[in-house]
Amino acid sequence: MEIRWSGSTPGTYDTGVEKKAIALLSGGLDSALACELTLRRGFQVVGLNLATGFCVGEGRCDTVLALAARLGIPLRMRDVSAEFLEVVRAPKFGYGSGMNPCLDCRILMARTAGAVMEEEGASFVVTGEVLGQRPMSQHRRALDLVAEESGLGERLVRPLSGRLLGPTYPERMGWIRREDWLDIQGRSRKRQLALAREWGLTEFVQPSGGCCLLLTKAYAVRLRDAFRHRGREALTPDDFALLRYGRHFRLSPGVKVIVGRDEGENAVLAGFSPGRWALSFPAVPGPVALVEGDLSPEELELAARLAARYSDARGGDPVTVRAVRDGREQDLTVVPLPPDDPRIASWALGE
Ligand code: SF4
Repeated sequence: MEIRWSGSTPGTYDTGVEKKAIALLSGGLDSALACELTLRRGFQVVGLNLATGFCVGEGRCDTVLALAARLGIPLRMRDVSAEFLEVVRAPKFGYGSGMNPCLDCRILMARTAGAVMEEEGASFVVTGEVLGQRPMSQHRRALDLVAEESGLGERLVRPLSGRLLGPTYPERMGWIRREDWLDIQGRSRKRQLALAREWGLTEFVQPSGGCCLLLTKAYAVRLRDAFRHRGREALTPDDFALLRYGRHFRLSPGVKVIVGRDEGENAVLAGFSPGRWALSFPAVPGPVALVEGDLSPEELELAARLAARYSDARGGDPVTVRAVRDGREQDLTVVPLPPDDPRIASWALGE
C-alpha cells in the first residue's frame, strides 16, 4: 500500500487511502482529544457514545453531540445498559474503590466498539485511555487485558499514550508511525488541558466533573446493601434505578425505607410504588416514602414515624400517614421520630 507522506507535523500527511476508526466518546476531555488527534493524523472517524444507565453529570449527552458537530464526524449512539447491568452484578475483574467495575466496563465498551467497527467497515477503535491515569483500569497490564479480552487486540488504539504502548494495527499497516501518537501518562491533566486550548476544543465535560454513579459513595453503599439483603440476581433494572433517588434507610434485614427529598423525587418514587408500601401525608406537606419488605404492623408504624420526621409536622404532634400498597389503603396516626434519634443515622445508607 502506497503511503504518501507530506511531513511529520500533525495532520499534514496523507494515507493515500481513506482509513476509518471508531472513536469512543464519553463527553470527557481525553476521549475528545484522542478523537481529534486521530482526525489530525488523516483518518476518517465515526464517534460512538455508549449509554450505560449509570452516567451522571448534567448535559453530558449534549456535550457529546456538540463535540461531534465541532469535529464534523458522524456519531453513533448505543444503549448497553442491559449488558452493563450484568457486568455490575458480577464483574470478572472486581470493583474499584466504589462499586465501579472499571476493567469489565472497558472491556464491554471496547467489545461493543469492535462490533460497530465491523458494521462500519472501520479498521480500528480509538479510546481516550491514558497510561497510569486510573489505578484500576489504566495501568499497562490493564490496558493490555482490555485489548485482549475485548477481542480487539492491536486494533485497539490509545492515541494519547500510543508512543508508550505496543505497536497497533494502523502502525503495522504503515498508516502511521508510533511517534505520531502522544506520550501522555499519569494522573495530571495539564497536558490534555493545554492541548485542548491549543486545538480550540471546548466541548467537553470538565475533568473534575465525575462521570459514573458507581464511583459515588452513596450509590455504592446502597448497592452493596441491596446485594446483601436482596441478592445480586434478584435485583431488577428498576431496583438499580431506584437506588439513585431519595434518602435510603435499612431498618432491618427485611425492611428498607426510601424517602423523597423534594417534589421531583417524590414524583419519581410514586412511579416505583407497585409492590411496595407508598406513604404520603394527606394533612401536612411531607415526602413520598416507599417501604420495601413484608412488614409487621409495628414495622410499618416505625417506617411511617421515620417518614414523618421529614414532613412539616413539628413538635412531636401526631400526624396522619396514608399507607397504600397494591390497592390496600390505611391511615396511621404516628408521632414523628425526633431528628436527633440516633437510630436514624444508624439506618442511613450513604447519607
Ligand atoms: S467509572 Fe464507571 S463508566 Fe467509567 S470505566 Fe469505571 S465503571 Fe465504566
